[in-house]
Amino acid sequence: MAVVQPVSVDEVVKVVKLAIDHGFKIVPVGSSTSLSGNATPKLENTVIVSLERMSSIIEVSDIDWYARVQPGIKVDELNLELMGYGLQWPVDPASSKSATVGGVISNGGGGMRGAKYGPASHWVLGLEAVIGTADIVRIGCRTVKCREGYNLVQLFIGSEGTLGVITEATLRLAPLPESFVGIMARFGNAESLVDAVIKVRRDRLWPMVTEFVDDKTAQLLNLEPRYYLWIGVDTYAGSEQGVLMKLSNAIVLNGGEIIGKALTWQDFSKLLEPRKMLYSAQLKAAFGDYGMDAFLLIEDIAVPMSKLPEAVRELQELSKKYGVKMMLGGHIGDGNLHPAIWARRSDKDEVERVMRFFLRTLVVSP
Ligand SMILES: Cc1cc2nc3c(=O)[nH]c(=O)nc-3n(C[C@H](O)[C@H](O)[C@H](O)COP(=O)(O)OP(=O)(O)OC[C@H]3O[C@@H](n4cnc5c(N)ncnc54)[C@H](O)[C@@H]3O)c2cc1C
Repeated sequence: MAVVQPVSVDEVVKVVKLAIDHGFKIVPVGSSTSLSGNATPKLENTVIVSLERMSSIIEVSDIDWYARVQPGIKVDELNLELMGYGLQWPVDPASSKSATVGGVISNGGGGMRGAKYGPASHWVLGLEAVIGTADIVRIGCRTVKCREGYNLVQLFIGSEGTLGVITEATLRLAPLPESFVGIMARFGNAESLVDAVIKVRRDRLWPMVTEFVDDKTAQLLNLEPRYYLWIGVDTYAGSEQGVLMKLSNAIVLNGGEIIGKALTWQDFSKLLEPRKMLYSAQLKAAFGDYGMDAFLLIEDIAVPMSKLPEAVRELQELSKKYGVKMMLGGHIGDGNLHPAIWARRSDKDEVERVMRFFLRTLVVSP
């Protein structure tokens, strides 16, 4: 195995030509932060093409709301730069500090702002890539309306490096909100938590953040064992109190208890801290139980929001049925659940039960 770090599209072309001539495989990577197991190249006959050195912002248009960037730029670094223009690329997986734009696009990633903005597929206008023939292709446009035959940009999004090496992306941008309000609350069950979010939507608010964890997970996050909701809305200066009032009513009317309120994104980020710790808490729980003998699986399933309580119930019943430990949290806005289950690797019976649970979750789609 070898690693190359090209600095230009021409160097990527050279690597692909060498791969064709000498018959080796190439695997493009950004920061290799993926949780999906996709950046796992075989050792033999493989060259890793690391895009980390192709990390420039080529152009930002604060009129047309797009940015042309190289794939190796980190999501947080890009957004820091865009703040100066009053703009954002609103795709922010919890790994945004280290994840690259190329990696997020190739994973079809979403994130904490997904309730309003959805995943990467909504926020990429065009791509430049080097495909397996060593040709450079440019697909998509710089405009939201783009009619050029087959929608090849969408084919690339989520293709995990299998269609080519992305060497440039034209990203659609959104304005940064003028103001922001948010609440952290807890409920006795998943139904009333989801009902509160439905009420907020019926009140014609479009939350940017709607995150949750279940009671068992809450305990591992050092919270009282209840169902926790983080809900935040981007808004205009002057309207914060009105929005906060609507959020509070929706929570209280559905039996929720408000734990904290925030009138800025910075304050809300602090309230969000326990939710952001979900992944590390899952690791801590599994490795705390079994040390290096731990076998941890984290699922990534999506159901329509209205079916979320049913899905939570079914997952909890499955964990009892198979006798496996489970932590559950996710993004309510896009119906995305992340059940984490673990076993002792050397315990064949426990591993089998975890695998049976895992395979059953593939059909949890009420
Ligand atoms: C703690 C944590 C939290 C996360 N939270 C979320 C979340 O909330 N929502 C979500 O959707 N995801 C989440 N993820 C997954 C997230 O999508 C990935 O971490 C991230 O997108 C990968 O970026 P990367 O630069 O590390 O890519 P890598 O891991 O290096 O690569 C990912 C895939 O993209 C391919 N690839 C990378 N760069 C290119 C390129 N230039 N051209 C072609 N193919 C390329 C690779 O071959 C690989 O298949 C999380 C991950 C972690 C570790």
